[in-house]
Parts: sequence; structure tokens; C-alpha cells
Amino acid sequence: MSVDVAWAEAWIRTSARVLSEHRARLNTLDREIGDGDHGENMDRGFQAILPKLDGLTDATTPADLLKVLASTLISTVGGAAGPLYGTAYLKAAGAVSGTAELDGDAVVALLTAGRDGIVLRGKAESGDKTMIDAWTPAVDAAAVALAAGAGADQILAAAADAAEAGAVATEPLVARKGRASYLGERAIGHRDPGAESTALILRCAADAAQS
Ligand code: ADP
Ligand code: MG
Repeated sequence: MSVDVAWAEAWIRTSARVLSEHRARLNTLDREIGDGDHGENMDRGFQAILPKLDGLTDATTPADLLKVLASTLISTVGGAAGPLYGTAYLKAAGAVSGTAELDGDAVVALLTAGRDGIVLRGKAESGDKTMIDAWTPAVDAAAVALAAGAGADQILAAAADAAEAGAVATEPLVARKGRASYLGERAIGHRDPGAESTALILRCAADAAQS
């Protein structure tokens, strides 16, 4: 599939389904090192966009849909993840605004801007045991794939693979941002829930480009 408005719609709809399926597991991860609501937060935000998508018949670019997703997440999701993901989608949309079909360069720009938005908002660095530890490997892998001549769909697949590995790699880390940072060494051995939701969402982006 071209990485266009239909792709963006498929990405959002698949994300809503997958986050709903993984709601309990994300809550469990967050119960271990936070307050147990990450699955609930993500599910609430992505369910809230579904009725809006049906009414967006004049959307022509991925950015049109990502902007609505951003404002929906910011207004419906309490907790850290709503504003963080909301900013990511808003900045991602800004990076590809007006482009109907995203090529490899545009996909890398979208992912990079999304990651940079989360850093701007949350000030996390790599290794702080947050969603950034999934996003940054994804952005780096996307740039490597682009330089190797990969197409937009292959770039998204490389980003998804790296995000999954990044989420797993949060397990041995001590958290330095968010609620998990209150736990000190007790966070060791637990996967960061936000890194896990990022891995799920970026896999949905890749899958939407394959179908
Ligand atoms: P809350 O912590 O308010 O309950 P959630 O449970 O929905 O919100 O989200 C928790 C996730 O948010 C964490 O697993 C982590 O990945 C992410 N997070 C928290 N603070 C930050 C931050 N400053 N920068 C990046 N990500 C963060
Ligand atoms: Mg929480």
C-alpha cells in the first residue's frame, strides 16, 4: 500500500484494535512500575478517535488524520501518555503537512519529528526507561534503512523491529522519568509500558503499509 491517507487511516484503526487487545497487558506492565492505567489510557484515547474518523471524509493527507488523533489524545487521555503521544502525532503531522503520499524521506521525517516532540515535552533521554527507548532506536533504524535505499514500507518495518527490541531493552534499566522513577532499583526487571505501547503502534504503522 502507498503511505498515504488510506495508510494513515489503517494505521490509526489498527492501533485502536491492537491497543484494545493489549489493554490488560499494558495495565499489568504499568502496575509493576507505575499506577496500572497505561492500557486503559491508550485504549480510551484510540477508541475516542474512531467515530471522528468516519466523519473525516475530506481528509486528503496523512497529516490531516494525525492532527485529529493528536488533539483527541490530548483531550481524552489523562496521565503522562496523552500529552506525550499527542505531541508526537502533532509534530509528526507538521513534518509531512500537505504531502499526500509519503516517500522514504518523509517517513523518516515523520518518525523523527514524533520522537523529537516527545523529548520536547517530556525531556527524557535515551536510557531513562521511557517510550523514548523504543522511539529512538526506531528513528535510527529508519534512517539506516533509508540510507540503504529501502522504500517507505521497508523503513516502517525496520522502525517497528527496532522499537520492539528497544522496548525489551528497557527491562534492565532504572527509570529516571515518570512514575517509575520513584521506584529506583525496584524498576529493574520490568519492561516500560510506554516503550511497549510505542512498539505496538509502530508495528501497526508497518503492517498498514504492507497490506
Ligand atoms: P501516567 O504515568 O501518568 O500514569 P501512563 O501510565 O499512561 O501515564 O504512561 C506511562 C508511560 O509514559 C511510561 O511508561 C513512559 O514510557 C512514559 N513517560 C512518562 N514520563 C515520560 C517522559 N518524561 N518522557 C517520555 N515518556 C514518559
Ligand atoms: Mg500510568
